[in-house]
Amino acid sequence: MSTNRQTNKFTRFLRNNAALLVMIFCIAAVITVVLAVSLSDNEQIPDTPVVGDPDDNNNDDPTNKPVDPDDGNDDNPPVGPLPTIKLYFASPLNYKSVSMGYTDQEELFVFNTTLNCWSTHHGVDLVADDNTAVCAMFDGVVLEVTENYGMGNIVRIDHGDNVIATYASLADVKVVEGQSVTKGEQIGVVSTSASYEFTAGAHLHLEVAVNGTNVDPMPYVDGEIFREIEQEAAE
Ligand SMILES: [Zn+2]
Repeated sequence: MSTNRQTNKFTRFLRNNAALLVMIFCIAAVITVVLAVSLSDNEQIPDTPVVGDPDDNNNDDPTNKPVDPDDGNDDNPPVGPLPTIKLYFASPLNYKSVSMGYTDQEELFVFNTTLNCWSTHHGVDLVADDNTAVCAMFDGVVLEVTENYGMGNIVRIDHGDNVIATYASLADVKVVEGQSVTKGEQIGVVSTSASYEFTAGAHLHLEVAVNGTNVDPMPYVDGEIFREIEQEAAE
């Protein structure tokens, strides 16, 4: 009984003061919310500069990181030694035989069957079938295209590095003075246009001069002479 009376009193108290209790609850709730918000604000305030610093660092890092590797990548190729490739001189034609060889201090003269005498010969005579194509042995620039009675149609090509080749006894010349030619490009055909050597038949009279001095052309014809060129320049 007494317990029921106390319960009834408490219930009656709750009913009578419900509004007050609700007000107290609301005030407590508001205070809790305000405290929570102010606390979270206070936490964010110190966070902001902390967050800002890592951001700054992060911004610096990505800026630095790409710059350094990029600089390294850009610097490395030019700094490192460039790979070189060997470019060989090539035979200017498919020839069958050498009718007159090259004369120098060791081989002073060769017998010229056309002129019926011993004479110097500063080139080689490469005999081939009539109209066999004659091609540039190497890249170069045509210095001059001339013609004379003794040596026929003549093409002189500057192959660079002070190497100048003279292609004589030609016909059907296909290049002009000042023209750039590439290795293997046809410049004419063999013929008997060199009257001083016509008994050799259709042939190419080939001379090679290095720094203005004639040298034996056969190492060039045989593809033994090469020029080492940096790959970048070759491209
Ligand atoms: Zn000759």
